[in-house]
Amino acid sequence: MSTDPSQRVSAPLPLVQITSKEDLIRQKLEEERARLAREMGIDLRPRKHFARPVENLFTKDQRDHTTILFGGLTWKHEYLIHGALEGLGYKCEAIPTPDVQAFQLGKEYGNNGQCNPTYFTVGNLVQHLQTLESKGLSRQEIIDNYIFITAGACGPCRFGMYEAEYRLALRNSGFDGFRVQLFQQSGGLDQSEAEAGLEMNVDFFLAILNAMNMGDLLNDVGFQIRPFEMELGETDQALGECMDYLHEIFKTRRTFTLEGKIGNFLKNLPKVGGSTEYIGKFLDQLFGTSYTGALESVGERLSQVKVDRTRVKPIVKITGEFWAQTTEGDGNFNMFKFLEREGAQVLVEPVGTWTMYMIHQAKQGQRDRKGVSGEESQPQAWRIDKRIKNEINVRKANAQLSLAEAIFKREWNRLREALNNIPHGLTDQYELQRLGHPFYNSRAGGGEGHLEVAKNIYYSNKDLCHMVLSLKPFGCMPSTQSDGAQSAVVNQYKDMIYLPIETSGEGEINAHSRVQMALGEAKVKAKQEMARVLEETGLTIEHVREYAEEHPELQAALYSVPHHKGTIGSAANFVRHVADLMKKDRREKVSGVAAD
Ligand code: SF4
Repeated sequence: MSTDPSQRVSAPLPLVQITSKEDLIRQKLEEERARLAREMGIDLRPRKHFARPVENLFTKDQRDHTTILFGGLTWKHEYLIHGALEGLGYKCEAIPTPDVQAFQLGKEYGNNGQCNPTYFTVGNLVQHLQTLESKGLSRQEIIDNYIFITAGACGPCRFGMYEAEYRLALRNSGFDGFRVQLFQQSGGLDQSEAEAGLEMNVDFFLAILNAMNMGDLLNDVGFQIRPFEMELGETDQALGECMDYLHEIFKTRRTFTLEGKIGNFLKNLPKVGGSTEYIGKFLDQLFGTSYTGALESVGERLSQVKVDRTRVKPIVKITGEFWAQTTEGDGNFNMFKFLEREGAQVLVEPVGTWTMYMIHQAKQGQRDRKGVSGEESQPQAWRIDKRIKNEINVRKANAQLSLAEAIFKREWNRLREALNNIPHGLTDQYELQRLGHPFYNSRAGGGEGHLEVAKNIYYSNKDLCHMVLSLKPFGCMPSTQSDGAQSAVVNQYKDMIYLPIETSGEGEINAHSRVQMALGEAKVKAKQEMARVLEETGLTIEHVREYAEEHPELQAALYSVPHHKGTIGSAANFVRHVADLMKKDRREKVSGVAAD
């Protein structure tokens, strides 16, 4: 388009045959628009719209020399995913946790007005490619030998724009042509290419699912043990060893395949032959013990960490936006480390909740569309055949989703059991919907939807935390909406301590000082609770410590202390548990004496 208005020419108006009043009005409008455009010097020639650039493919024959980059989770998740991908035969590398410099690069090379996670993650990729370049690789070598995979989505929040943002920033930073592949919340990678470099098959999904779940569980366990460790740094030392061991398990684990004469016979069975290998893989997942066995060994190692559970610490539940509540760096002001330094016990959010939320929303969508599936409106009453067909389709789709939900939960719990049920269970999505919906419509998608509001109520009301800290990225639309609803929530639930913190690349000191203030209140709440529990049980903290020393199993990190209704803190629950054990000891003593 010419930059000089006087040089611009308006396109001649098409001749329209006037057949009605509407046509006349339309013609008059066009004439007026053309006149105004001429006056303003605006060019009305047809525009050439943006078309998505053709992506360079990642094909099977490039696999040996192509490194898959990925990131965006905690180091525990990423390390296990790394092992899983290596086990499937890929070269891969997790990119480091984004820092403030990555954020600045995201701002420099990306669009204006993005949300905070976009800047951090997009800038992080550019930063990593620049690091590769500084190590001596040419840009062309990087473009040819690396590919980035990430999650994608469509929908109302900026998550749907990530792919475009990556491409823009890569072009602006001189890496035009670098490949970014998405596996989407819906749709998935286009696997129409039979020779795709990254095979999104059953083995791939199962390996990633197990890596994510085990990453979640160990992340949770680490945060439960560290605040109580008797020897500083022992938890991280043990956790590091366990992660190395699990990485090796993922790397060396062979996937289920049908082999030998029996295998070939089964594969060639008419009709079911093609599915037998898939069935075998699922059965191996559902009943195999390679992962649970590995986690039991991990549990034994972690149990060697000695803990003092009598330390009074406020439990801070982390909620907020998916990325901001997960990342372990500048993206959330290094909040987890800060909270632990300040004497809190952090209750982290697993990625598993998000997976269950996705399934739950898909089920709800199916139910909502019932009767109109595949149609724009419900078939007429006399088209019973169509109505029945719709009903069957909805039920079928719902049954599949319910099965996926049940399997995911079962697998989660199996892995959790292997760690003596120390990690928290998955939060029930139906309960979350029931609690959150009156404040935030559960049909409103994007970001965490109703979850932010619902988790606040759930964790506060079920005596699972002293305070909820919501990490909300700067510029996040769904999180901003949640904030509006949260004021109604805190008005209704007067006792909850809830603090939303807007995370951005700057303002760490301000954010930390706000957290310190709310944490002060949470500490008082935890201390008062402990005083009440000691009074009710008639114990002193010295009694409890003595008893724990006499019973060393109580000092093992993976000893399971039951949660008592109405009691939140780990120390307070431990006191109640010791009181119960003392009572039991006394009863046994009395019955022993009576028997004598
Ligand atoms: S949920 Fe918020 S922060 Fe996350 S991608 Fe969407 S708009 Fe950005």
